[in-house]
Amino acid sequence: MPSSPLPTLLAILVLLVAMAGVLLALWRSRQRERRDRQRFELVVRAISDGVYDLDVVADRLWRSEALCRMFDLPAEGSGADVGDWLERIHPEDRARVREGFRAAMASRTTEWQVAYRYRRPDGTVGHMRDRMLIVRDGGGRPLRAIGGVTEVSAEQTMLEKLGLLERAIEANSYGVAIVDALAPDMPCVYANRALARMSGYTVGELLGHNLRLLQGSEREQPGLQSLRRALREGREGFALLRNWHKDGMAYWVELMVSPVRDTQDRITHWVGSQADVSERVATEQALAHRATHDELTDLPNRHLFRDRLAQALRESRRFGLDLVVLFMDLDNFKLVNDSLGHAAGDELLRTVARRLQGCLRQTDTVARFGGDEFVVLLIGDAESDVLRVIDRIAEALRRPMELAGSMHYVTASIGYARCPQHGEEAGVLLQRADMAMYQAKARGRNRAVAYEASFDQGVVERLTLANQLREAIAHGEFELYYQPLFRWDGRVQGIEALLRWNHPQRGLLAPGHFIESLEESGLMAELGRWVLRDAARRPVDLRAAGFDEVRVIINVSATQLHHDLLADIEAAVKDFELPSSALEIEVTESVLMINVESTIEQMKRVARLGVGFAVDDFGTGYSSLSYLKRLPIQRLKIDRSFVSGLGTDPDDEAICASVILLASSLGLDTVAEGVETEVQRDWLAEHGCGELQGYLLGRPMPFDALLALLNSQRN
Ligand code: C2E
Ligand code: MG
Ligand code: MG
Repeated sequence: MPSSPLPTLLAILVLLVAMAGVLLALWRSRQRERRDRQRFELVVRAISDGVYDLDVVADRLWRSEALCRMFDLPAEGSGADVGDWLERIHPEDRARVREGFRAAMASRTTEWQVAYRYRRPDGTVGHMRDRMLIVRDGGGRPLRAIGGVTEVSAEQTMLEKLGLLERAIEANSYGVAIVDALAPDMPCVYANRALARMSGYTVGELLGHNLRLLQGSEREQPGLQSLRRALREGREGFALLRNWHKDGMAYWVELMVSPVRDTQDRITHWVGSQADVSERVATEQALAHRATHDELTDLPNRHLFRDRLAQALRESRRFGLDLVVLFMDLDNFKLVNDSLGHAAGDELLRTVARRLQGCLRQTDTVARFGGDEFVVLLIGDAESDVLRVIDRIAEALRRPMELAGSMHYVTASIGYARCPQHGEEAGVLLQRADMAMYQAKARGRNRAVAYEASFDQGVVERLTLANQLREAIAHGEFELYYQPLFRWDGRVQGIEALLRWNHPQRGLLAPGHFIESLEESGLMAELGRWVLRDAARRPVDLRAAGFDEVRVIINVSATQLHHDLLADIEAAVKDFELPSSALEIEVTESVLMINVESTIEQMKRVARLGVGFAVDDFGTGYSSLSYLKRLPIQRLKIDRSFVSGLGTDPDDEAICASVILLASSLGLDTVAEGVETEVQRDWLAEHGCGELQGYLLGRPMPFDALLALLNSQRN
């Protein structure tokens, strides 16, 4: 097929036009580019700022002429780099700028700015602000840093710095204040918001005032004194202070003050910064309290007491004051604890602690030494004052307390020692008060005894005693003596079994030497059971000798009463085929008062076996009439201490007369113990006392000897 030239020409023409279009566009773009570049160069030249473009990857620095001029750097292309530039920065600012730059690069930020001083080519110092944009790749790695540097005046840098400082101080959680050291009364000229928050005052309320207003009226704190010293000496000071919030709440701060000096080294201001450390102080105080106080009663503990005593002894030496240490142990506490449980025991101790505190003056200290031991320190007391305090304590304890639903009566044995007569050292005084307390226990509890030199021997004995007692039981060294009880007309009515210890070295010992140790070492239950068995066979012997009506009287301890007494008596009555009324049990008045409800219950069970009860040492405890009426008792045994005064002491006579009256109104018999003189015997017989016991009529002696005596008297 022949070809026509026309379409070919047309195609060429179109191609040419297209090419011309492309060339034109290319030319235009070049033109625009040149114009942009020109504009860029002109702008860079026209502005006074230095401009730079750092290729981070290739470590190439492009910079404008202005920048080169500013920092005296060689023109672009000379190979000078960031290092040369840094060289021009003021040595004091250089490291900061370098580190700042590094940190900005390493972070993900795309903008960074910094102010610094630099050395001008003429040697003077100028101030620069440098702002930079950071271009990063998709992974956040920096590619370029493009920025500009502007010269700013020194004032502006200063202002910026100040602004920064103020923002920093405002943002600080420390309370910061500046006071004018030259103005009268050193008013506050600056306070940050944290200080306002901490103190409850507005910044406005703080400005213009001396900041002592923060300590309220507490102007003599130890912290303030050290602070004042620092201010006087013009040096830094540090103190822990108690401040008062505007609303009246106390808080603790740790305050640091530093002097600010002018060019002539004069202190113009003080700057203080404080942190609220209330929580820390509270924790510290709580820990210190825990370390020095008893957890159960919150009374001072042994350590704190010793501190106070040592302090009091120092003062006593300086001012010649007397002081007295009271050692107090509750009677029969263990029994309450065992029978009612620890919760009731704790409650009892807390109540006792409260009552003790109520008996004492501000200057006295009462501490709990552990268990049921309390110690009291009385300062500057005459003997009569001590006795008054002891009375108050006894009075306070005697008030009934309700524990686990029943009423309890607490008594205590108290020993005391006095400085300087009985010792001038804490350890000695405590030990001697303790010895005296032990004597109070040995003399029947529920009493107070002053230390005497003769007690020292007792302590040594006591230490070895518990061990010896254990062996004595094993070796059968105990024996029962019997003391008769007579009717007014001389007829024997009963014989009381009294424990004796045939000590291999010391000879025959009465219970006063060991009964407390027996209780303490837990041996009383075992020995008490032996006493019961041994005494319970005597009615058989008495009947064989024709003394059918004579009862055998057995003393029992608190521990026995609340534990095995019923079972032991049941067994004895059965084994020895005892008629009822052959046995009588003596319980001291103070033992009756422990755990009242359980006591009544136990005694009633024993009484059902036909065994009678007498209340021993009557008059020394605090039993109430209504209580006595509920007990299955036959007899009150008037305590020896009242009998001893008959015929001489009208008080004792009044007491004995009223006990006899009281007993008969309750339908009870009376026995008087410790009858030593004929005057006593006659008085008792005249006043209607049912039975008499005492050295005048018959001493305790072995059973066979007593039987022989009774036989001879009958004849
Ligand atoms: P208690 O039951 O009040 O016994 C009376 C105490 O007074 C006895 O002391 C007796 O020897 C003493 N006594 C009797 N008449 C006179 C007197 O005219 N003048 C003086 N100054 N004292 C007299 P003892 O034998 O030393 O016993 C002391 C305490 O030991 C007893 O007091 C009793 O509470 C306790 N006790 C004795 N044996 C036992 C026992 O087997 N078990 C228990 N739990 N306690 C016992
Ligand atoms: Mg007795
Ligand atoms: Mg007695």
